[in-house]
Amino acid sequence: MTIPFDLTGKTAIVTGANTGLGQAISVALAEAGATIVAVGRSAMDETERRCRDVGARFHSIQADLSSLEPIERIVAEGAEVGGRIDILINNAGIIRRADAIDFSEKDWDDVMNINLKSTFFLSQAVARRMLADGAGGKIINIASLLSFQGGIRIPSYTASKSGLAGLTRLLACEWAAKGINVNAIAPGYFITNNTEALRSDPKRSSDILARIPAGRWGDPADLGGEAVFLASSAADYIHGIILPVDGGWLAR
Ligand code: NAD
Repeated sequence: MTIPFDLTGKTAIVTGANTGLGQAISVALAEAGATIVAVGRSAMDETERRCRDVGARFHSIQADLSSLEPIERIVAEGAEVGGRIDILINNAGIIRRADAIDFSEKDWDDVMNINLKSTFFLSQAVARRMLADGAGGKIINIASLLSFQGGIRIPSYTASKSGLAGLTRLLACEWAAKGINVNAIAPGYFITNNTEALRSDPKRSSDILARIPAGRWGDPADLGGEAVFLASSAADYIHGIILPVDGGWLAR
């Protein structure tokens, strides 16, 4: 029997793989058999150890995605590691919190540059290679509940993640017939650095928890299976979806 979720022989680039959701996704793809090309600003020793522990090949690339400068290098190195790039996970992202009335241009630009601009141009660079050899591939963007909702005190984050949902659909429409599946995962509230400020505010933290039907915050490991699914042949006919993994938040 062939297992549709098997990623043996595939190479996956995962951005922001050193911690949080990017690390959990890297480990899940590694468990499914993929070679991991982990991209990030800081050391990825823990991710490397966890991927190698499950028998995966692992390669790391130091890169700062706040500009487009490293993109060609990431794609060239990634393709060299595995022969080709089969999967791209656009996970790297940041958040800045302030009331909209006080929000600075820097907090706008910094967030948009990483969450949206670099994501688009890295996807473009990877897709050019996927299209050149005609073997297709999977691109998975890490969106957010703020791809659907407004939120408060995070204007550039909401704009970037809402934009990312639209971009996911646009790229899916342009590339679906060429064998590239572009989809997104929208995580709910997960325990990572990204949500540290929320979790340390007792009022915000208990308000959020009270609204999650599952009755708990997400553990990064809750997200791995969805990434494997969307990266696998089981998702060959899925294009342009934003898949919430949110403990039921949006169903409320
Ligand atoms: P995190 O802060 O732990 O991870 C963010 C990752 O992005 C880190 O690996 C970081 O090194 C990387 N990164 C940040 N700036 C970078 C740069 N300039 N260049 C390269 N890499 C950079 O938070 P996380 O929760 O694991 O976030 C991962 C993704 O998930 C983000 O896109 C975030 O918006 C999204 N997300 C998280 C949650 C949540 O509840 N934690 C919810 C929805 C969406």
